[in-house]
Amino acid sequence: MTQFSDLGLAEPVLRALSHEGYVSPTPIQAQAIPSLLDGKDLLGIAQTGTGKTAAFALPILDRLSKSSDKTRQKSCRVLVLAPTRELAAQIGDSFRAYGRFTKTSVAVVVGGVAPGPQIKAINPGVDVLVATPGRLLDHVDSGKLKLDQVDVVVLDEADHMLDLGFLPPIKRIIKMLPKSRQNLFFSATMPGQIGQLAGDMLSDPFKGS
Ligand code: AMP
Repeated sequence: MTQFSDLGLAEPVLRALSHEGYVSPTPIQAQAIPSLLDGKDLLGIAQTGTGKTAAFALPILDRLSKSSDKTRQKSCRVLVLAPTRELAAQIGDSFRAYGRFTKTSVAVVVGGVAPGPQIKAINPGVDVLVATPGRLLDHVDSGKLKLDQVDVVVLDEADHMLDLGFLPPIKRIIKMLPKSRQNLFFSATMPGQIGQLAGDMLSDPFKGS
């Protein structure tokens, strides 16, 4: 059976996994992590409960921990889009837990709460920003956030985001990102519009489920 130590993850990330009590990777983690570490795009057909959050968070934390780049003010290097506040908060908690032995900064930006603390968190620059699309655009439109340093973008529960009417904001956000970037796309289902969005965003993706 594959072990986390076989996947090529950085030592601080492996240490956090022992801390979490994870013994071995789930199937989507074992499949997706090596190709994500190689910088490939990913199309993941995966439900919640499969371990998909760690499947994308671990290689992203690995990439950040090996990079000497600094995140610029009002910028982020990793952008994770999620449909709901609850999911965004969970993803943020996962990045903090798996990144506990790295110096990664994480912020969560969602609607329905005061924007002030979010602006304060973004202002010095944040490595990983987890956001719902509407509030993210509010911060961009008010000049509090720039998306020109993003080098990894994750769409989580893409089908759920489209059900909630987030296709127009997602398209606007994607247009603002640098052309050269890694794209990760997760959806439990793949109806027409989702397949089209995935096709537009992804280049020769690894396909996992
Ligand atoms: P997710 O599908 O990302 O929502 O993860 C479902 C649950 O599985 C979460 O509570 C994780 O903490 C847990 N989990 C993820 N990966 C592993 C693993 N390799 N071993 C044990 N638990 C895990």
